[in-house]
Amino acid sequence: MGKQDKAKEKGGASASPDRLAATLLLDAPASRVRGVSPARAGALEKLGVRTVRDLLTHYPRRYVDLSSVCTVAEARIGSACTIQGTVHEIKLKRPRPKLTLVEIALVDQTGLLVVTAFRQPWLMDTVRAGAQVAVAGKVEFSYGFKRMTNPYLEVLGDEPATGMIIPVHPACEKVSAAWMRRLVGNALEATCGVLDPLPLDLRAKYRLMSRGCALRAIHFPQAMPEAHEARRRLAYEELLMLELFLMQQSAERSRDVEPVAHVTDGPRLRTLAASLPFTLTDEQASARDEILGVMAAPRVANHMLLGDVGTGKTVVAAHALAAAADTGGQAFLMAPTEVLARQHAKSLGVLFDAAGVTYALLTGSTSAAERADAVARAAAGEIDVLIGTHALLEDDVVAPRLTLAVIDEQQRFGVDQRAKLLSKGAAPDALFLTATPIPRTLALALFGSLTLSYIRHRPHDAARRTTCVVAKSERGRAYDAAAAALARGEQVYVVCPLIGKSSEERDELAGKGTAAREGDAEEAFHPTVAIEDDADMADDDVTAATQEAAFLSAKVFPDHEVALLHGGMPAAEKQAVMDRFRASEIGVLVATTVIEVGVDVPRATVMIVEDADRFGLSQLHQLRGRVGRGSLPAQVFLVSASKQEAALARLRAMETTDDGYELAAFDLSLRREGDILGNRQSGASALKLVNVVRDQGIIEAANADARAIMEVDPLLEEPDHAALAREMRALFAQERAVVGG
Ligand code: ADP
Ligand code: MG
Repeated sequence: MGKQDKAKEKGGASASPDRLAATLLLDAPASRVRGVSPARAGALEKLGVRTVRDLLTHYPRRYVDLSSVCTVAEARIGSACTIQGTVHEIKLKRPRPKLTLVEIALVDQTGLLVVTAFRQPWLMDTVRAGAQVAVAGKVEFSYGFKRMTNPYLEVLGDEPATGMIIPVHPACEKVSAAWMRRLVGNALEATCGVLDPLPLDLRAKYRLMSRGCALRAIHFPQAMPEAHEARRRLAYEELLMLELFLMQQSAERSRDVEPVAHVTDGPRLRTLAASLPFTLTDEQASARDEILGVMAAPRVANHMLLGDVGTGKTVVAAHALAAAADTGGQAFLMAPTEVLARQHAKSLGVLFDAAGVTYALLTGSTSAAERADAVARAAAGEIDVLIGTHALLEDDVVAPRLTLAVIDEQQRFGVDQRAKLLSKGAAPDALFLTATPIPRTLALALFGSLTLSYIRHRPHDAARRTTCVVAKSERGRAYDAAAAALARGEQVYVVCPLIGKSSEERDELAGKGTAAREGDAEEAFHPTVAIEDDADMADDDVTAATQEAAFLSAKVFPDHEVALLHGGMPAAEKQAVMDRFRASEIGVLVATTVIEVGVDVPRATVMIVEDADRFGLSQLHQLRGRVGRGSLPAQVFLVSASKQEAALARLRAMETTDDGYELAAFDLSLRREGDILGNRQSGASALKLVNVVRDQGIIEAANADARAIMEVDPLLEEPDHAALAREMRALFAQERAVVGG
């Protein structure tokens, strides 16, 4: 492979414009690539592809390996296969007014395969009887035939250039997978000969392909091992860049500054501790001590508090905030949603009032007058703690004596948002809270210079929480349990999935989702449920949740107050609903995933999750963390209409364990980088290829290499590192632009 690589590279370099031009082109708009018309550029942008670099790193979701085609007779039921054949017949059917399906009878020498494609009516135009096609997907058997549902389908013949392995890129209606291949191909051509930012010694150490070769090979591999090698190289590069970026940022934070040594036995902290309505668990107490320990040290602290949902991280953080106030400093507490920020202001507010810590709340919906007042008082140093959402990131929000920044649910923020908050002070200590179950070794590798505390048990572990998967047809069981809880004066959540931003995208995703669910287990992910941010709501979802609320109110819980909560509601309305729910005026809260993060209502004891199979396990675990927070036992019902054994088995893992760390082992959705590194908001994640479980070895290697580089050349000034530095800046400048926009 090595020799071949070099030959290819040389050929590429001489045929291309020059290396530098090719490299510079990476950051040009995608429209510079041949074939990217303004309309396509618009569609690409929706997929998060803005620059040529984005297009090159728009990696295939999977590959269809035509080199290992099998016949219909050979195809094993239940396994994923690629089958090639002739279209005998193609029909459009409409089983329901809004549902179209295309049915294709595909024949080869050995038999007949029935292919069903939901919601892809355009296949009627692109696939004709008599055409040669290849389909890839899971083989099923019903009504006497082998079948595939929503397979990947490729019409063969008119595109002989693609070779035996067809990459399937994430596509959309306006830019089909076939077009995407063409555009990526054009982008590769235009940037052929790009500079390789990896120093030669590192490339040699791990026998990594050159960047040019890797990009070509990941998009258009000649054979699958080549694609795997390419992925290894590119994943390593992603990680090295990220580690360097994080390490530089933390180095930058402590360069030429006088770190604060916090006072950790001051009067506010003592009063706050004395006014807690409960005693801290042993784990909470040691986490508190560890945090106060790093804060007291004259170093810039970077500490992460990891604890499953409901383990009581907030109150631990409150101690840190009080210590900042005792030190005469100021602090930020940033949370990802308005609901959560308000909840913190409310619950911590009581403690702060008792302890004499001044605070203010700043969110997107704070009135202009209140905002101006809070901003002015913070700038004058009169407020000890500013609690808020992303609204804290605005440029005019300053705290001249900032010594501590706490970021709750840190994985919900982008790298740069976190950096921005920290940059508001000279050298504030940083405290990150997260419910993402990251094992210690992995956390250390991923976050380099971080110190860690873990809380493993909830304060009310004695109060049991049970989880039960029920078929849609047996939902009555869940309703009975809910009615009984209501009769005891307890409260109920009903969660409806949030499906997407527009019905178009939703169809697209639904198509993909099914394909993934039925197709290769390795790739199973759950794209149909979006994590909700404030105001991130589609009309359809509102309708679904609204209808559910109306149904429950009229038919199931006629004697109780049923209310609706979703991210699309005006903030004031959301707040009013949450307040009433907290005050037990509302019995049943029908909500979307807006309640996922951190919401705390101790009397809520029953949760019913509709279409639970659409969620990732980590998400379900976060959701169920909303109940069983007080001392009352809780019940969770996961309702699913799925008949897929795999989907149900996945859900049943929720029945067998209540431990987020254990659950993580089951959860494919959790293995996606976004959950752990928290780039999901920016859309353009820095890690596109890395799988945090499978790639642990690469993660550790990249971490060690980044450390070694930082040790000898912290500013990346050596000639060997110039390309690295440039690449890193480009990567994260882009991230920054996306986040800011
Ligand atoms: P999370 O770690 O998910 O952010 P919270 O900080 O919201 O959890 O705490 C969950 C609930 O547990 C809150 O109602 C909080 O008041 C309560 N709580 C926290 N610590 C204790 C404790 N030591 N004893 C009793 N209840 C506690
Ligand atoms: Mg929390």
